[in-house]
Amino acid sequence: MPNKRGRKFLNTPGPTHVPDRVMNAMHQPTLDLSDPEFLDVSMSCFQDMRKVFKTEGEVFLYSSNGHGAWEAALANVFSPGDKLLVPETGNFSNAWASMAEALTLKVETLPGDWRRAIDINALEEQLKKDNKGEIKGILIIHTETATGITNDLPAIRAAIDSAKHPALLVVDTVAAAGTVDYRMDEWGIDVTVGASQKGLMMPPGLGIVAAGEKAISESKKATTPRLYWDWKTRLEAEHYRKFCGTAPQLMVFGMREALNMLFEEGLENVFERHRVLAGATQAAVEVWGQAGTLSLNATEPKERSNAVTTIRVSEDIDADKLRNICRDEMMVALGGGLGDLSGKAFRIGHMGDINAPMLYAALSAVESTLGYLNIKYGSGGVTAAINHITDIKKSQSGPFSY
Ligand SMILES: *Cc1c(COP(=O)(O)O)cnc(C)c1O
Repeated sequence: MPNKRGRKFLNTPGPTHVPDRVMNAMHQPTLDLSDPEFLDVSMSCFQDMRKVFKTEGEVFLYSSNGHGAWEAALANVFSPGDKLLVPETGNFSNAWASMAEALTLKVETLPGDWRRAIDINALEEQLKKDNKGEIKGILIIHTETATGITNDLPAIRAAIDSAKHPALLVVDTVAAAGTVDYRMDEWGIDVTVGASQKGLMMPPGLGIVAAGEKAISESKKATTPRLYWDWKTRLEAEHYRKFCGTAPQLMVFGMREALNMLFEEGLENVFERHRVLAGATQAAVEVWGQAGTLSLNATEPKERSNAVTTIRVSEDIDADKLRNICRDEMMVALGGGLGDLSGKAFRIGHMGDINAPMLYAALSAVESTLGYLNIKYGSGGVTAAINHITDIKKSQSGPFSY
């Protein structure tokens, strides 16, 4: 019988562990649609999501997951037949491109190899070739959750500017928001797509979209059929219009608390905590990898994500078995390999409401399962993770905040 005592650890790269404070905030009676108590909280969430994305643009909240927010972004700013450039980053860029095609948009890709971030020079070249400006939008995955790689958005903006290309820049920050800096306005991002259940510490159930001025004005011309996703009605004054009907009230109460927690910690500290925990995870994987069976998918250290680490396994290892034992017997849920990495990798999520001891638990479960399955690995991965954090702590003054 698997051990069912104690807490389950959720180290999937979404959904993530939901803090008690957020769950408690959601434990409320439902209210009248236009109860001022709800309206105040709701309006403050629309307002404060701007601070998270660092934008003065409009925020839209959908009762949906990230896929809903993807569709909302595409349906509002593009018209049937419009051409999009979608640099391949991994499974999520491919899935978003397929969605665009399903909405009758045309997709051009910039091939990528899943172990590196988007090639900025190649992107610039491809945009320069489009001298008639046929490309209407560029879809970028900020952190590609399948590969554990974060793309350099300021560099992407600079490449678009240097090619003097007018396309809208549409960014999926679903897995990056709340784990790494994001500056929508400063980086010239026209549309941002997010979701509640990753770094933002809420349960699944809210799709979040932000749109800048240029995107709002394009949306007035875009002819893709839409109603639920449509920004026009959602910008009207009556509050229920913002949700195209009844608001997901309890999710909004949860969002308020999650935003409070992010601002109390301070966004910069939130990013630093994620950076430190990601570094500790990488340190563990490097040690495990010394026996030649496991390796970090992201080959370039500076491109590695703060949110998720993708670990490749050699062919003789059953990555899914490893993952199932971790979840069912060690009570630690990990992510599997996606798309081209299916069966060839597993992923450790370290985003959202997580601290060092929680990460040690996850890494210990992996190390213990490697041993149990007689997989060859370099021993001492967990110790390397602990030392990584201890060394950072020693170099700093002030309280331990990881
Ligand atoms: C999780 C994820 C999505 C999809 O979100 P769902 O809520 O599962 O629909 C989209 N993009 C990225 C980068 C993600 O990590």
